[in-house]
Amino acid sequence: MSNEYYMRDDCRLCKSKDIELVFNMGKVPLGDDFVSGDQLDRVQNEYPLEIHFCKNCGLVQSPCVIDPDIIYSNYLYETSSSLGLMQHFEDYAQYVIDTVNPPKAALAVDIGSNVGALLKGMKARGLNVLGIDPAKALAEKASKAGLETWVAFFNREVAGKIKAEKGLAAVITANNVMANIDDLTDIMEGIQTLLADDGVFMFETGYMVDTIQNVVIDNLTHEHICYFSVLPLLSFFESHGLEMVDIKRIPTKGGSIRGTVQKKGGPRSVSSNVTGLANLERELGFERVDPFKNFSLVSENVKAELLVLLKDLKAQGKTVSAYGASIGATSLMYYFGIDGLIDVLYDDNPAKIGTFSPVLRIPVHDSSEIYEFKPDYILNFAWRYDGPIYRRHTRYLAEGGKFINCLPTVKIVGA
Ligand SMILES: [Zn+2]
Repeated sequence: MSNEYYMRDDCRLCKSKDIELVFNMGKVPLGDDFVSGDQLDRVQNEYPLEIHFCKNCGLVQSPCVIDPDIIYSNYLYETSSSLGLMQHFEDYAQYVIDTVNPPKAALAVDIGSNVGALLKGMKARGLNVLGIDPAKALAEKASKAGLETWVAFFNREVAGKIKAEKGLAAVITANNVMANIDDLTDIMEGIQTLLADDGVFMFETGYMVDTIQNVVIDNLTHEHICYFSVLPLLSFFESHGLEMVDIKRIPTKGGSIRGTVQKKGGPRSVSSNVTGLANLERELGFERVDPFKNFSLVSENVKAELLVLLKDLKAQGKTVSAYGASIGATSLMYYFGIDGLIDVLYDDNPAKIGTFSPVLRIPVHDSSEIYEFKPDYILNFAWRYDGPIYRRHTRYLAEGGKFINCLPTVKIVGA
């Protein structure tokens, strides 16, 4: 057990030890580790899921670092399985071209490239693309589709190999990756090694302002060990000879940021968006611990309200199922403590159908079976996709079924 994870006692960005616990979810298993029917007896460990605030630079982070090989070697999550994400990466590829205006056949490297959704878009626009991803099955799938992908964790050493084989990169991207990496210094040194002097590093990551304002508790998972805002990143990039030249808020994953970074002294001027978001965070008090403690209190209120409702429905003899068999759903099931209060999880991802949730062993059924089981209520863990889900299941609603949206507030949807 002890060599499966360790608890970090300093800040991942500034190395300060002046950190404070602000949110404690207790022990939670790996959220995506749904098991098949012949693995029901498999022991799955639970690891502490805590959120800490660095009083020196303002970073919010989880101290618990689980061995990445345990998390990612059998990682199943495919970008293409998430609603709307394929179109997102298609638009993103165009944004890269418009922003960077790279020369034809310039090298673009995507860190954590998954099945290659962004690589595909960049390749179609004339770039020479390379993906780096530690999940073997995903990397092989991308390579088979003509999107060369190395099975690796990106770091300074891998960056050196890429440079030796393919030259410097005009574009390096990392989407929903920065928050998952313990040694960010190694990544930054890799970027310094590989990036051309006029090149650009672009990243997308969840935005703590949105996480707090929308109460996105399902973003708190073992895979996410950092919860970024702009202020701590500004000083972090600077300490690695890099500078943030632009930052934009985007709607993905419950609210994210897309940052553009160049080598310090590079050709691009700094956008007013950077100071804009830095000022917003100062106004919201992000340099102090208070907003994060408040986030914990708001979440506790949602949990209390939801549990009263679910226990009341159970007492009335109503059947309650849930929608969503994702990493985030596992966090929500654990945080809310719904064990014994829901019977089935419905999902649309073929890879999840027929599996059972981590430790709690709640069976996952295809969402078409809603019409067979006819639950009275469906608790919607996929609340961020509420619109598309309710439109797809208008028949369930028309036949008297009700959804319970759990976040950002508890709300019953239906006639
Ligand atoms: Zn710090």
